[in-house]
Amino acid sequence: MKYIPEPFKIKMVEPIRITTEQERREKIAQAHYNGFSLRAEDVYIDLQTDSGTGAMSDSQWAAMLRGDESYSGGRSYYQLLDNARDIFGYEWIQPVHQGRAAEKVLFPVLIEERGQFVISNTFFDTTRAHVALAGGHPIDCVCPEGLDSGLDAPFKGDMDLEALERHIDERGAENIAGIVMTITNNSVGGQPVSMANMKATAAIAKRHGLPVVIDAARFAENAFFIKEREAGYAEVSTRDITREFFSYADIFTMSAKKDAITNMGGLLGVREEGEHVPDVKSLVISGEGYVTYGGLSGRDLAALAVGLVEGLDEDYLRYRVGQVAYLAARLDEYGIPYQRPAGGHAVFVDAGRLLPHIPWHQYPGHALAVELYVEAGIRSCDIGSFLMDRDPETGEQQQAPLEFTRLAIPRRTYTQAHLDVIAEALGHIQARADQVKGYEIIWEPKVLRHFTAKLRPVD
Ligand SMILES: *Cc1c(COP(=O)(O)O)cnc(C)c1O
Repeated sequence: MKYIPEPFKIKMVEPIRITTEQERREKIAQAHYNGFSLRAEDVYIDLQTDSGTGAMSDSQWAAMLRGDESYSGGRSYYQLLDNARDIFGYEWIQPVHQGRAAEKVLFPVLIEERGQFVISNTFFDTTRAHVALAGGHPIDCVCPEGLDSGLDAPFKGDMDLEALERHIDERGAENIAGIVMTITNNSVGGQPVSMANMKATAAIAKRHGLPVVIDAARFAENAFFIKEREAGYAEVSTRDITREFFSYADIFTMSAKKDAITNMGGLLGVREEGEHVPDVKSLVISGEGYVTYGGLSGRDLAALAVGLVEGLDEDYLRYRVGQVAYLAARLDEYGIPYQRPAGGHAVFVDAGRLLPHIPWHQYPGHALAVELYVEAGIRSCDIGSFLMDRDPETGEQQQAPLEFTRLAIPRRTYTQAHLDVIAEALGHIQARADQVKGYEIIWEPKVLRHFTAKLRPVD
């Protein structure tokens, strides 16, 4: 594969502890075979999430020291406003403590004023939860390619346009609060959305008078995929691609813990200060804080202002997307199955195919995550039937369409040598795959069980 330069050098290091296999066996047993219950210091390479776990640059740390902690109208807020307006072209930019806070202040207002249904290419968990908490009904509408893990297609995150039209006709535009475009489409594996699909979705929305909301956590990775894969964009900068993409929407919510490379933060953007804004502002002030800090310290606003710009740097994005592709290519050497093509922020290993002797109700994705920890101290997580809660009505276990183990890659945090360790560890596990055991749950809460459930291996 082509050589991809890492566009930084290391100025400060954080030691990570190397543990023995015996120690890891004890730690994971004490954690009741649930990675969320491990202490992070007992983990060697942490691939649990790419959210808030990236490394900030020297420019971001320098900006933090100069953060303005004034209660209102601070300099750091205006720096953030200038940079965000410049990138997205939206009038009103509201900082919030993280992405879900933007969802929490937006969806109650939209749903109350416009209608109960909200349609998305695929809702992320928190977005889905906030639509439901506001009394709305989330509807997923991803293109069929998005659900076929073996199919190599460039824009598997796209909206299914025909299904979108059908949902609008069936429910009636007057009952629909808006359309959400998630970029990249996290829940189908960090798959991008094309400019053409965004434009077509916006045209449908406009015809029916519906607002379009971008769930923009990975806006920069999505822009880079458009540049690499969509005809006509190879020579367009990721900044200009972003500006065009956002011009088709009316509102965005954003977790800044992803592409804006901060440890904490979020944004809400509105293209034209219209009728909904005063109500949203009231919710921000009552729940998050005054509008010019929105639950963040001045230093967080300053780091975010810089991170937005750094996140769009094309040398950085080539390395970022290239790092995930590199790991995928190493897995190809071992013939380890994963969702193709690799997404922008993670490789989803197809544990169902790697461990075919483990039935879905013994959680192959979870079994592989435990095994990776024992093998090399790597923490990952199940995106499969363990993640699925029981049917709320019948209490039956539900089978996920695919049994994945997600390897999420934090930004600018691990080197290529770390990625080699991950690939080799998976290679070792593959060589003794038939000995890997399934798991059973010995205790679980009513909802969101994967965070706190206790398990044991099945003999
Ligand atoms: C992470 C994420 C969110 C929620 O953001 P938080 O900062 O974790 O609250 C929303 N949507 C998408 C697509 C995300 O990846």
